[in-house]
Amino acid sequence: MRKPIIAGNWKMYKTLSEAKQFAEEVKGLAPDSVKVDTVICAPALFLEQLTQLLSGSAVHVGAQTMHFENEGAFTGEVSPVQLADLGVEYVVVGHSERREYFNETDEAVNKKVHAAFANSLTPIVCVGETLEEREAGNTTAKVEGQVEKGLADLTEEQVKQTVIAYEPIWAIGTGKTATSEDANEVCGAIRSKVESLFGQQVADAVRIQYGGSVKPENIVELLLMEHIDGALVGGASLQAPSFLKLLEAGA
Ligand code: 13P
Repeated sequence: MRKPIIAGNWKMYKTLSEAKQFAEEVKGLAPDSVKVDTVICAPALFLEQLTQLLSGSAVHVGAQTMHFENEGAFTGEVSPVQLADLGVEYVVVGHSERREYFNETDEAVNKKVHAAFANSLTPIVCVGETLEEREAGNTTAKVEGQVEKGLADLTEEQVKQTVIAYEPIWAIGTGKTATSEDANEVCGAIRSKVESLFGQQVADAVRIQYGGSVKPENIVELLLMEHIDGALVGGASLQAPSFLKLLEAGA
């Protein structure tokens, strides 16, 4: 049985006082009161405060990106060592917005995934197709390629711990969700790819989230699908009441 994992991705939203207010509203969630793994991926600026405020609660803290080097002359970047030192436990890697606007390649994604494991961070590796790719019938080929390159040279144990997020780019922030059947079909194809690369035990263990306009109103049917083990949520994770509703759906 795979434990669902529901993660909020705040992107470039919120001020520090808003982030702290959110933490106040969710920090009462005790670890044994929630049946899903719970993560908030916040702007790097707020990570220190959030790890402190949420320490001991069910809500874990993640970063939205990082560099793959432990340190160096990379102005403006954040390293895996720095994240781990703050008590951050997860990091989103290869989000489509990073791939599109910041030239994050599959090779960089792979280096970041290795760097995450080297620093005891759990990577949430994002894959997904554009609308054009979907309409051309290339969805499976695209996400399989991203999975193969992103997870290259990992051990079976590491792949079991990796979280894969399937986020069709056309569904992000658009209010258009993939139908639960379509999302499940692609998540199933991802699982089959993991099986062909790393074996059945690994494929049975790896958790695959769906992301793209997930809301309290549609999360239940998504989570009921065989291959969908959670959600990566943007807009609907920004307000504590809505985020808490998403968690209830995973119960
Ligand atoms: P929305 O939930 O706002 O569509 O964002 C999805 C996403 O990109 C999460 O990483």
